[in-house]
Amino acid sequence: MPANTNNSQAEQVPLRDITACPGCDVVVATKPVSVPFGSHLLCPRCRHTINDPRRNTVDRTLALSLTGLLVFIPAHFMLLLQFDAMGLVDQATVVDSMTAVMEQQYLFVGIMILLSAIIVPLVKLTLLCGVSLGLRLKKFPRRLPFMFRWYCHLEEWGMTEVYLIGILVTIIKMSHMAEISYEKGFTAFLILTAALVGTAFTLDRHYYWNKIEELNHAPGKPANDASGPTARAVPGQPALAANLIQCHTCHKLLPFRDPEPGHELTCPRCGATVHKRKPGALTVTWALVITAAILSLPANLLPIMEVSFLGTPDRSTIMDGIIYFFQTGSYGIGLVILTASILVPLFKIVGLVLLLYSIQFNRWSHLTQKSIMFRFIEFIGRWSMLDIFVIALLCALVDFGFFTTITAAPAATFFTLVVLCTMFAAISFDPRLMWDIVNSNESRNRTLNP
Ligand SMILES: [Zn+2]
Ligand SMILES: [Zn+2]
Repeated sequence: MPANTNNSQAEQVPLRDITACPGCDVVVATKPVSVPFGSHLLCPRCRHTINDPRRNTVDRTLALSLTGLLVFIPAHFMLLLQFDAMGLVDQATVVDSMTAVMEQQYLFVGIMILLSAIIVPLVKLTLLCGVSLGLRLKKFPRRLPFMFRWYCHLEEWGMTEVYLIGILVTIIKMSHMAEISYEKGFTAFLILTAALVGTAFTLDRHYYWNKIEELNHAPGKPANDASGPTARAVPGQPALAANLIQCHTCHKLLPFRDPEPGHELTCPRCGATVHKRKPGALTVTWALVITAAILSLPANLLPIMEVSFLGTPDRSTIMDGIIYFFQTGSYGIGLVILTASILVPLFKIVGLVLLLYSIQFNRWSHLTQKSIMFRFIEFIGRWSMLDIFVIALLCALVDFGFFTTITAAPAATFFTLVVLCTMFAAISFDPRLMWDIVNSNESRNRTLNP
């Protein structure tokens, strides 16, 4: 249930009692608004979740990240599945799926699997465990901003849950061709995924950043907060119009001041460089979206996988694979692959073009819907890697020599590049640019009718 945002008050409110919406830059009062556990504070304009308090966030997140770290090695290095086809046996770990595509000369695809399914989840868990432990014990205050900042940057690049769905798709795909045995690594991977998904529900970023800031401002420690006690703004007005800018990483609101020559403005809380808007957002996002659209052609037209049966190779594109599922009656799995591999990349490219077009040509209708669409594009970005994980697993698990083998094909590299470009495009895009025309109109009206 959304909490009352109380944004109708016209008087100026001090900086400590307000924040700005990261989605549209409007100033929102945080006090005396009380947001109970299980509720959330929504932006009145773009419906972005501004505060979403979680109960016992530090203890629960610490327990889950520790659990994830404990099962991390078995989840990746112990046997995951074993395939038995007509007496021929093949088995694989998660690491094998990465090395299998690398050995087939698809080094870039292998590196992406290594990063998204192994390295980033490990770094994320380590950082989250370290920050939670630091907050719990009130230790290492100087290191916590750096650690939590990097956790926030890496959040969407860990794809353990996508990999788990990839394992399930592989199992369904091969269930009528081979006898499948679930090994210990499979159980460990299930626990690891549950722990990582669990942290998304227990972690209260707002609370973490506030506590990190408090710890760094503990008595006896020099205050590095340059926010100034006099800054004020009216809830409902654009933050930039009140000469306030927001850190894009930790969402701290700061009075804007010109940085010293040769220096950039940095956030006193997390240390990130702060800009009024992301620098070069439009140009970079356009470049990445156009690159993704061009790469989509070879990704969809070239074969992505090769199945060799008794020495006869048969190459198939993404669409061939989907048609195969529908023809064999596996409609559910066919729909999952269709959504992840065709619809999601298409939606991301078309959606971002629409948003860029509306900024470029000052189209400011349906901004709330456009903001919701952008958040959806951000959320679904990683799920396109599903097909790549399935192919990598099949490459590792279906290697029965002359009888039958599965290998990756050239579209795998192009498809991975499409996923990468669309994810970076969503990161480089600044949704506040969509609202700037409305923001400048509102500021002008306030100046004319104070
Ligand atoms: Zn908003
Ligand atoms: Zn910050």
